[in-house]
Amino acid sequence: MAGHLTLALIKPHAVYSRKVGKIIADIEEAGFGIISGKMLQLREEGARRFYKEHEGKDFFPYLVKVMTTGPVWVLILAKQECVQSWRDFIGDNNPTEAAEGTLRNKYGDHVDRTLNAVHGSATDHDALREINFFFSQELSLLKELVKEENKIGI
Ligand code: GDP
Repeated sequence: MAGHLTLALIKPHAVYSRKVGKIIADIEEAGFGIISGKMLQLREEGARRFYKEHEGKDFFPYLVKVMTTGPVWVLILAKQECVQSWRDFIGDNNPTEAAEGTLRNKYGDHVDRTLNAVHGSATDHDALREINFFFSQELSLLKELVKEENKIGI
């Protein structure tokens, strides 16, 4: 699994500015498979936990605020070398410095870099942690199902 899956997230400002359809079309056009996806609302505690490595930085309170202003879309994407491909596809986290054609350059805010439209896991380790962060219920249901199937010999 490592390497071929990543966690992608469409941030609240891109959801309420109606960019979800365009972003998903771009994702599919670029050859990423969408394995799973859902819309949810992050609460303050969840946003703080998700971005815990940035705790203490000056932009952290604002980042938490931005991430809790409305619903996000979280997606599990699949592709060869998925983590790196997705990071390349979204571009630099500052939309003005992100290469032309990248998602952050196209859909991010060129004045406020916190509003950079999308997130992508930074490493394979983070991808597993972040997929688990958002999809733990689905993963444990799947594990139970596999266990049951093994028991009855399917
Ligand atoms: P990412 O992995 O590319 O998203 O980048 P980071 O993990 O470094 O940062 C997490 C998020 O915090 C970014 O996507 C931005 O939304 C925001 N961010 C990062 N650095 C800055 C900064 O210097 N200023 C502000 N205002 N926001 C930042």
